[in-house]
Amino acid sequence: MNMSLDIDSVLQKLKEILPGEKEFIGLHEPCFGGNEWAYVKECLDTGWVSSAGKYVEKFESMLAEYTGAQKAVAVVNGTAALHICLKLAGVDCGDEVIIPSLTFVATANAVMYCGAVPHFADVEESTLGLDPSKLADYLKEIAEKRDGICHNRLTGRAIKAVVPMHTFGHPVDLEPLLEVCRQFGLELVEDAAESLGSFYKGRHTGTFGRLSAISFNGNKTITTGGGGIILTNDEELAKKAKHMTTTAKVPHRWAFNHDMVGYNYRMPNLNAALGCAQMEQLPDFLRKKRDLAQKYQALFTGIHGVQVFREPAFAVSNYWLNALIIDEEFVAQRDELLEATNAVGIQTRPVWTLMHRLPMYHQCPRMNLSVSEKLEQRIINVPSSVIMCELK
Ligand SMILES: *Cc1c(COP(=O)(O)O)cnc(C)c1O
Repeated sequence: MNMSLDIDSVLQKLKEILPGEKEFIGLHEPCFGGNEWAYVKECLDTGWVSSAGKYVEKFESMLAEYTGAQKAVAVVNGTAALHICLKLAGVDCGDEVIIPSLTFVATANAVMYCGAVPHFADVEESTLGLDPSKLADYLKEIAEKRDGICHNRLTGRAIKAVVPMHTFGHPVDLEPLLEVCRQFGLELVEDAAESLGSFYKGRHTGTFGRLSAISFNGNKTITTGGGGIILTNDEELAKKAKHMTTTAKVPHRWAFNHDMVGYNYRMPNLNAALGCAQMEQLPDFLRKKRDLAQKYQALFTGIHGVQVFREPAFAVSNYWLNALIIDEEFVAQRDELLEATNAVGIQTRPVWTLMHRLPMYHQCPRMNLSVSEKLEQRIINVPSSVIMCELK
């Protein structure tokens, strides 16, 4: 019976997978191996760097084609994309929105930008994402539909939407979650920030909700420096999204008229140029990331006390960030493992602090979050860059 986690052998395994000649390996470093220089140079040479230019439209159509969404609207970052998605889904001041407590802070922030209140729900261990049956049981207890709108009986507020997040790229169990939304009259808005290249039962994540958001931040599967995109199958919503994110300017040759309070959220052409070059390499990136995930899985088979998280059976995941899951009995050694790896230049980190522990979200409504609270102690993210497959 092992009484403790063998930190040295975990470290040994990580060193095996990592390129020895590098002194530091980050969690997720970008990879620019294609037409990035050529496309960006073209923007500079022609002067089309900012709010207009051919790359924005090209990037949008590449994303629509790849994901199978009817429309894609490129914006400055994933958080802005999520903000607009929520507004278009009808989230207003004083509403509540169900989100996982186990997520990056942007999910909760986007809800607050609408003047709404995040309402935290628990995740399941098999997906690291929202647990549909726990949510259904909870809503039966605390919610009721009045005039077609779901209301929280405890707070009196309307609950407008559910925002699942596909953690580390692994798809949430979307079918039962959609059923819960149908039953309670809730909009499904996907935070697909991390899941470009991840599929649920053969269909791309971010195409199940009426609206969804993807991020192209520097540490995501592909990057535009900073950037995001809104996906939808609804042409009207796509038009509204474009309008709202371009200061709500009414098109005219010289007049500056605006018909609502809009946002300056457009993606600049420079960033879209980078994005087009990255999209061309996405299939290659995904192959390499899958390869890396399989290496991790093979190496850690037989190491007592840690598992490498695997995609759920119904999914093909992009394996954006690989995660070690420490057995519950060894959680006391988590920080020791974080110390040991970071000390030798292998960047690792625990999962985000749960949203309901953050000072600004401490008072928000929430269900029992026992699974999230356990997972918070057990997850360690390990280096997952595409370049790691090329260095060996
Ligand atoms: C990265 C990320 C975002 C936000 O994307 P930005 O482009 O950084 O604004 C939102 N939600 C989740 C879960 C993310 O990982």
